[in-house]
Order: sequence, then structure tokens, then C-alpha cells
Amino acid sequence: MQGLFAELPEPPFVIDPHRLVATVAVEQAIDRDLDYAVPTQLHTLIRIGQRVRVPLGRSNRSAFGYVVDLKNHSDFAKLKPLTEIADARTLLSAKLLELARWMCRYYCTPLGTVLESLIPSAVKKRVGIAQVTLVYPTCPKDQLAHDIAAAKRGKSAAVLKAFLTVGETEGIEIHHLATLAQTTTATLRKLAAGGLLRLATHDDFSLPQVFSAPLASPSSPPAPLILNADQQSALDILLPQLAADQFAVNLLHGITGSGKTEVYLRCIEQVVRSGKQAIVLVPEIALTPQTAQRFTQRFANVAILHSGLSATDRHAYWRAIASGHSQVVIGARSAVFAPVPALGLLVIDEEHESSYKQETAPRYHARDVAIKRAQIENIPVLLGSATPSLEMFHRIHDAPPQTDGRPQYHYIHLPTRATAWQLPKVELVDMKNANRDRHGIHLLSPRLEDALRRTFAAGNQAILLLNRRGYSSYVHCPSCDQPIRCKYCDVSMVYHRHAAPVNHSPLARYAAVSGQLQCHYCLAVNTLPTACPDCGKKLSLFGLGTQRVEEELQEKFPDLTFARVDSDTMKHARDYERVLGDFGSGKIQMLMGTQMIAKGLDFPNVTLVGIISGDTALMLPDFRAAERTFQLITQVAGRAGRGHKPGNVVLQTFMPDDPTIRAAITQDYTGFATGELIHRQQAHMPPFSRMVRIILRDNDEKRLEQYAEQIGQKLRDAVAAVPDITLQGPMPCAISRIAGYHRQQILLVSPFATHLQKLLAILRKHGDFLRGDRLAIDVDPVSLL
Ligand code: ADP
Ligand code: ZN
Repeated sequence: MQGLFAELPEPPFVIDPHRLVATVAVEQAIDRDLDYAVPTQLHTLIRIGQRVRVPLGRSNRSAFGYVVDLKNHSDFAKLKPLTEIADARTLLSAKLLELARWMCRYYCTPLGTVLESLIPSAVKKRVGIAQVTLVYPTCPKDQLAHDIAAAKRGKSAAVLKAFLTVGETEGIEIHHLATLAQTTTATLRKLAAGGLLRLATHDDFSLPQVFSAPLASPSSPPAPLILNADQQSALDILLPQLAADQFAVNLLHGITGSGKTEVYLRCIEQVVRSGKQAIVLVPEIALTPQTAQRFTQRFANVAILHSGLSATDRHAYWRAIASGHSQVVIGARSAVFAPVPALGLLVIDEEHESSYKQETAPRYHARDVAIKRAQIENIPVLLGSATPSLEMFHRIHDAPPQTDGRPQYHYIHLPTRATAWQLPKVELVDMKNANRDRHGIHLLSPRLEDALRRTFAAGNQAILLLNRRGYSSYVHCPSCDQPIRCKYCDVSMVYHRHAAPVNHSPLARYAAVSGQLQCHYCLAVNTLPTACPDCGKKLSLFGLGTQRVEEELQEKFPDLTFARVDSDTMKHARDYERVLGDFGSGKIQMLMGTQMIAKGLDFPNVTLVGIISGDTALMLPDFRAAERTFQLITQVAGRAGRGHKPGNVVLQTFMPDDPTIRAAITQDYTGFATGELIHRQQAHMPPFSRMVRIILRDNDEKRLEQYAEQIGQKLRDAVAAVPDITLQGPMPCAISRIAGYHRQQILLVSPFATHLQKLLAILRKHGDFLRGDRLAIDVDPVSLL
């Protein structure tokens, strides 16, 4: 733990010993820090970054918080005393505290709320921390021999002998000593009571056994690759930054399979050689076991922070990371806060992924937080993507060169596949024509069906993408012309069919036949009504889902072994790992599923990728719909042709002439980005503006309207005082009701982030703005639904 303690300043010199004041950020949504008097007996023990217990409010209820400052004065004459130090460790380093303060300002969130997500609850609760009892002799070491000789009973002599082997100041753990001296801990306690021994109990922060050995022995270190020219020039830019400890933002734009991961690995090797640590963020760790494996093959101590960790393991990893033991930390969004003592590099893989944005307070974007952390730590940050977010792409190309001549932003391009194999060919199927002469509903066009047949005949594998779960996307009453909607949300319910009865009760069998309706927003579930609840007529199922495709595949390819991969079938990370294992070994011929299968998979035998409906995401009422569509198609297409065999992609669409679909066919990122950026500029949308979205909710519609009007008025007044901000709304959200809450939004848009920040600072001074759960502020929103 030394690394964590070392960089922290000692408490300031106490001028007035009767008045040491601790500023505490309480773990609650209170938008200001509170001052407390530090009781005299704690003066020498208290440190910035410790977790403490304090009295709060008129009733002095007990609350926890972090010491964020120590000083000798306060603006308040009368201070309550702090109750106790809850954890003597410094849980928050000075640099992480600085990062937290920035998040608190930038995302307009109380510091306490930010700290809630910065420090894992397993750490706060000290899960898995055992107490150890150490035993010491009461006599000095040079007298031991004398005392051993003098000891009348054999037990005392045997116990004292054990101490001859250890250092002067070291104790022996009580169970260990009992074994050494062939006695019991009860006897040792008796000897202590008699004055021969001294016992001392403290928390055992030592690392669990698993950390003393490498986590996964670098079993089969792959033969070192010879970097290609593009990878080499990438390293020529990156390695000097690492050597110089220099803040820089690097966008590594490399097509899928271009060898980005290899570039990350080489950079991290240098970081580890210089005795520092690296953090690698991945969109979702459970979905990328292959990526994690490439790191454990190369480095001895890798901390993989996945959602399946037990609280005890999470805390153990946190300690291993804080002690500097872990050379590389890999994890999703929150790994950006990993408390490594000497951070050398931050890598964000697939930087464009929207899962980096947290959708509850603090609504931070891990990529942007990573950039800020790199700046605080004065290190480079490396953002990799095959389809960079337009924000980053624009920011990198638009960045002014630094005054001292060193550009702070670097664009690094890997335009070809690392293995000299070609990008897959994308073939478009116009679904309006494809099914014209066929009867019934077909989700697979004859062209895709044919391509699948030939793939399997040649002994190759395929991946089939359909970005929607369930059996049909809605249940429709033809006579009312209405889909069945969720009772609590402004969306239609999705029909899910049960694969097999869970048990043999009559009810389960009925459900298995009839299936159920599910709301994908609030997760409400209904049984499928036998008839329209309004008019009693027969209902029909519309649209497509993964279950429907599964059924069609079983019909058309009765001998095919395939797995359906979506969040319904893959409840646990191990389900997914098992399926990937079977796919890798060839036991399964095809994976079919949602965007879960679009990311990161690297199977050389996959020669065909089919996209059932390329335009599903294009229809979303969000200004990023085109960007998302392009990203998804490019990502999944990149799964094909990663080995020696060329790959093919069949893209089915009802919108063959849409410019996004056209750009996706040729996988022309620059063409897409250039065109889309022109649209964004004309519409004054990000990245040409910055946006703050204010979401208001209430379960009563009338009350929400009044509230929205009142907040809207407050905002209009505030906007009048700051230049260059436009306000839109209040207006209903695209999904105007979720889980029983009606929702309205107000958008604040400005070409200048600083102006929006100024506005938020003004609003924040009106204390009531951040209070309550009816209002949420989303800075740089990534979704507008
Ligand atoms: P990306 O992360 O850009 O998708 P990867 O790093 O996964 O690309 O590389 C794709 C494949 O190419 C991997 O199997 C990797 O081992 C291989 N590869 C990477 N760099 C080289 C190289 N210089 N020479 C040969 N193979 C390489
Ligand atoms: Zn719902």
C-alpha cells in the first residue's frame, strides 16, 4: 500500500492545536463540502483521502464521507466534531481527488456522488479484510537465549525459540507460532496473560495468495510478431511520449484486424519495463475474453476487473492495484478510476462505444475522464477504434498546434490489415426485391441463404447479426391498427417465445406455448393475450427478433449447429465463454445474435458475416443514428476474413440508397465521416456544438408540465446572462414515459463548452437545482431517447 500513501502530503502544521478542521465530502447528493472539527486525539492520525464518519443534519444522523481538505480555519464559527476515522487507509490519492473534483464541476454532480462511483463499495465495506494477531516476546532479542534456558516448562522454551529465527521487531502470526512450537493458540494467549508474550492485532491488508504467483502463467507466449511499417510508425510516435512522461491524446484509427491490440501491447511493455502500470479500458469485459487473454499471455500480473467478481475479490484486486502489484488493469468504464500508484499509460479500446457513458449520476464518459486523468498524471492516452467517434475524429483534426511546436493531439492511422489479408467484400441485398416472389415471411434472403450453404459446405464458419432480441418486435391488432404497448412506458412490448417449458406445471406449459410480452425498457412482463384486449379480434406478430431468426434457421438448415447469443441466452459471462470456446474449436458452426457478437471476436475460420437488417438502427430518433449504424456494420463486418481465407459480408437492407449504408458497403470511414460532419455542422450538432440535456420526470403528467415550465423559465433567465447558448424545450422525450414516469427534456446547446459550464455554475448556486430525483443533468449526452 506504500505507493498510495507516499504521494500524500502530511497533515498541515497545526498552528492552533485546538482547531484542526476537516473538510468532508459526504457520500450523499449534497452539493457542498462540510467542515468538521477534528477531535484532538485524531490530530496526528487524520489524513486527506481517509473515509470518516460524521454527524449530519439537525438530528445528527451518522453519515460517511471523505476528508478532502485539512486546515486551521473555517468560515463557520461553530463546527460539529467529526465522529471517527472509519478507515485509516488513504482510499483516495491526491490525483484521484483532483480528478473527482473535475468531474464534480464538469458533470455538475455533487462531489459525494462522484466519490460513490470512484471507490468500490467492497473497499468501503472492507470486505474480506481479516484481523491478524502477531505475537512478540516481551524480552529483547539478545536476552532470548537466557530466557529460554531459564524457562522451566518446555512449552515456554519452545515458543521463545521460534523467535530466534525472526528479526528484532518482527512478530509471528499466532497460528503460525502455534504450529512452530507445537502448541495451541489458547496456550499462547495464556502465556501472553502471564507476561511472557505480547499480542498485537491489526487488519491484514496483505495480498491474498493468488497474487503471489502470476495470475495466469504466460503459458504459451506467442512468437514475437514483426511489426509492419504502419505499426512501427505508430510506435515511433508513442514510445517517445511514454519515455518523456508527456500528456498527449492519440487517436489510433485502425481498421478491424489492423493490429491495434499489438500496438497497445508494445506500449505497455515499455510502461512495465519502466516500473509503471497501465490501464486498459474495454467496452464490456465479459464480451471480450479473447482480448483479456492476449494481455495475460504477455504480462505476469494482470488485474481483470469484470462484473462477475465477488466483493472479496474486488477488494483484493483493488489492494493489488493500489500496491503497484498489478502491471496492467483491464476493465470496463469504472476501471478508469483504478488506484494504480504510478500510471504510465491509459488505453481506451473501441473509444467510440456508447457503453463508456454512465447513464446514472455521475453521468460521466470514461473516455473523457481518461483524457482528464492523463492530463493530471502527465501521461499519454491512447484511443483506439476502427470507427472513431465523430467527436474524437473532429477534435484531433481540428486541434490547434501547441505553441511550443509539439502538437498535443496525434492522429495515427493503420489503414490495412496486419496479416496482409484483405478486408471482406460487402454485398448488398435489397430486401424489397429479394422476397418478392416468395411466399410467407423470410428473414433470410435467397442470396444470404445460398452464401450460408456454401460457407458450411466448405467447412467454414459464419456469424449472423440481428440487432433485436425476442421473437417479434411487436404484437399488432390489425383491426384497431395498434401495437400492444407497455403499461408504464411509451414503447411497444416485444414478444418473447419460450424455448422449452421450465418445468411441467400446466402454467409453465401454457407459457411455453404462448410466450410472453416484455418491455425492453422497464422489463415489465405480460403473458401474450389470446386476443386484442380492446376489440377481441385476433392479434398478429410483426417484425423480427433473434428468436424468429433462430426458428427460420432450424427450418432451413436442420443439420446446422449454431448458438443464439443475446442477453436472454447469455445471462452469465461463463455462458458466453463456453459458447466462444465451442465456436473456436469448431463444435459450433455459426453464432447468431445481437450486437454482443459484433465486438472484438477473432476467429480465423469465419468467412461469412450476414447482417439481417442493416437499417434497424438508422430509424432511431437520435442525431447519432447514422453514426451508430455505420459503426455496427463496420464492426461486425470486421469479424470476417481474419485468417487465411477471404471473407464475405452479406448486408440485407430496405434502404439500399441511404448514404450511410453505401459508405458501410465500401467501409469508407473517411467518406462517411466527412459527409456526416457536414450534416452535423449544418444542424449545429456535436461535435460542432456541445450539449447539456436536462431530463425531468414525474409520475403525474400535469405536475410534470408545470415543473418543466418552471425549470424552463429558470433556465431561460439564466441563459440570458450567458452568450451563445440556445435552449430547446421543454418538450417530451422521444420515449415520453419509462417505468411509469413521464419524461420531458430541455436541451442547451452552445458552440463553446465553457459557456455551458458557466451556465451550470450559475444554476448550481441556486441550491435547489440539483436537489431531488425529478431532474437529471446530462452533460455531453450520448443518447437522446
Ligand atoms: P485489431 O486490434 O486492430 O483488431 P489485432 O491486434 O487483433 O487487430 O490483430 C489482428 C490479428 O493480426 C491478430 O491475430 C494479431 O495477432 C495479428 N497481427 C497483429 N500484428 C501483426 C503483425 N505485425 N504481423 C503479423 N500478424 C499480426
Ligand atoms: Zn415498460
